Amino acid sequence: MATPPAAATSRPAGKPAGRVGAGTLVQEKFKRLGLLSAQDFILHLPIRYEDETSIVPIASLRPGSRAQVEGVVIRCDVTHTPRRQLTATLQDDSGELALRWLTFYPNQQQQMQVGRRWRVRGEVRGGLFGLEVIHPRVTVSGSALPAALTPVYPTTEGLSQPSLRRAITLALEHVTLDDTLPQALVGRLGLMPFDAALRTLHAPTPDMDAQALIDHTHPAWVRIKFDELLAQQLSLAAARDARRAMRARPLPATQAPDNLCHRLVQSLPFTLTDSQQRVVREISADLGHGYPMHRLLQGDVGSGKTVVAAMAALQAIESGVQVAVMAPTEILAEQHYQKLCSWCEPLGIEVCWLTGSLATKARRLANEAIRTGQAKLVVGTQALIQDTVTFANLGLVIVDEQHRFGVAQRLSLSRKGEGEPATARVPGDPVPHQLSMSATPIPRTLAMTFFADLEVSSIDGMPPGRTPVVTKLVSNTRREEVIAHIAHTATTGQQTYWVCPLVEESEALELQTAVDTHAALTEALPDLVIGLVHGRLAASEKAAVMHAFRAGDIQVLVATTVIEVGVDVPNASLMVIEHAERFGLAQLHQLRGRVGRGQAKSVCVLLFQAPLSMLARQRLRAMYETQDGFEIAQRDLDLRGPGELLGARQSGVALLRFADLAHDSELVRAAREAATELRRHAPDIVERHLLRWMHGREDFLRS
Ligand code: ADP
Ligand code: MG
Repeated sequence: MATPPAAATSRPAGKPAGRVGAGTLVQEKFKRLGLLSAQDFILHLPIRYEDETSIVPIASLRPGSRAQVEGVVIRCDVTHTPRRQLTATLQDDSGELALRWLTFYPNQQQQMQVGRRWRVRGEVRGGLFGLEVIHPRVTVSGSALPAALTPVYPTTEGLSQPSLRRAITLALEHVTLDDTLPQALVGRLGLMPFDAALRTLHAPTPDMDAQALIDHTHPAWVRIKFDELLAQQLSLAAARDARRAMRARPLPATQAPDNLCHRLVQSLPFTLTDSQQRVVREISADLGHGYPMHRLLQGDVGSGKTVVAAMAALQAIESGVQVAVMAPTEILAEQHYQKLCSWCEPLGIEVCWLTGSLATKARRLANEAIRTGQAKLVVGTQALIQDTVTFANLGLVIVDEQHRFGVAQRLSLSRKGEGEPATARVPGDPVPHQLSMSATPIPRTLAMTFFADLEVSSIDGMPPGRTPVVTKLVSNTRREEVIAHIAHTATTGQQTYWVCPLVEESEALELQTAVDTHAALTEALPDLVIGLVHGRLAASEKAAVMHAFRAGDIQVLVATTVIEVGVDVPNASLMVIEHAERFGLAQLHQLRGRVGRGQAKSVCVLLFQAPLSMLARQRLRAMYETQDGFEIAQRDLDLRGPGELLGARQSGVALLRFADLAHDSELVRAAREAATELRRHAPDIVERHLLRWMHGREDFLRS
């Protein structure tokens, strides 16, 4: 996004830049950066700072650093190897430095005439013939050095730093920078005043802590980050209000002692844990409201979310609406289908199955049952959100492993119930309640920010009778021992998963590895039945393999990551993950959760290939040190940043520009409290603050 400043400013020194505002061309460029109003300009803050306060001897330059030198041009040529370019050599008392332009204007060649003195700045790299700077910034030599850091702004192609800087300076002169926050709040939180913070960031003075400015820890940054987070909190709260203003069909629990939920509980072979009972109550209360529920049920892998979902579904069905349960993979959907059938059919509720792989006729029948409302409980995959599926009266949508769905799919599902087709929707028509389930807990800071408009229910702890999984880190060189251990596990009647490595670049390669591993294990363990499941199998084939594994007919299941979510086979007690260093933390945790579901002591072997990268080492250590999903999620956030957890890379969700959730959790907390207080007591301030921060960023609201 940001053009390196060296390139953006390599205009010949001394040539006047176009006046700010002159010409629509510059305006266009500003617009591309989202800079429309003066407010936008003042909040266009530096991405970094350059230290131009000193000139260093050429001999002291090191590759990889940014530096500023002064010297005389002793050589200048246009060369044609490998392509046309301008090269020059600059000399000072201590040494020589090569300069290179891959594209250039004729006047730049003149500028570099032998004998002329220049001040040159840029990133130093090791070139073929010693140190060099590509596309250096060239300015007059001998002029006074700036006393303070120089801000560098995010820019776009063809827009120079000086033009941006001038426009921002102009805006700073014309906009009133009055504080949107009440003095009392600013004082209580020890914040820097808004205008002082902005002036500091745009125009640091020599006395300021340069490192703190660069690190974003300076009080001026703290103030800006706080304001940004506050704006986010305020807009999320507004979004929550908007949702509460929508109508949903209330689906209250009946008090009848023989209602469906009670009957389910009585039929279960186990009793619900306290934690499960609590979340059931939370969801049940939400369903009774006349506005749509928007709740996340989180609970570690194996904590028993499915039965909670079933309770919610039964309450809704008893109120006369349809319920859709959607899972990201066919295997998982199928598992839900079986579980829900076994629980609901004895209660007289038929469960309808809908996935992409259904034959045409079966599919038509399913669609028909859904359209007429005869199908009360529909379980399936993405197929559920296709245009051809129309619900008679969808009242509750349950999405499992919601983070595995793309943002677009999630939106499309929540639109399902908003009446169909979407264009025919009458405002005020009821929308369905929504329950998401996830085994990847949202770290607190994320929950408080991007997911703030989401009520969260957590199942803490596991159903009784689980034994913690022992995690072992084993080098791939000890593979034989691991295989011997599989044989031993089988003699005790227990089963094993062997997860093949993730090959990001190539699905074909990933498949090949799985096939090879299957062959190798079959040869090494001739007495055992080894199964293979991967993403390319037809749904029915996958189901057949899973069925055989669940039934105990297969002792070792070789799998690609398709088994990642939800698979529930209590008799499997050994999990081997090959090339564990290639997996993400959340994924490893999910995989490990496949074992430790029965009475037997379970083991998870993380086979790794040395040497390990720093990040891989930290991930594996985290896996070794903790089993707590919340702790894992927090470490994941620390290691990866929020972008990936949010799936922002694919969704384009506007992330915070200045605040950093991994490091600013204290500020998030403060902003959240302030938001609550301001919304209660000072609506005018709320409006003013949002006006300053949310201009042109409506996308913010839709995260
Ligand atoms: P997850 O939260 O990962 O989706 P599941 O819903 O698949 O977990 O539950 C894991 C297993 O635990 C299932 O076999 C389920 O029937 C069982 N289970 C759920 N609740 C309890 C409980 N309270 N006591 C014993 N077993 C339970
Ligand atoms: Mg599950």
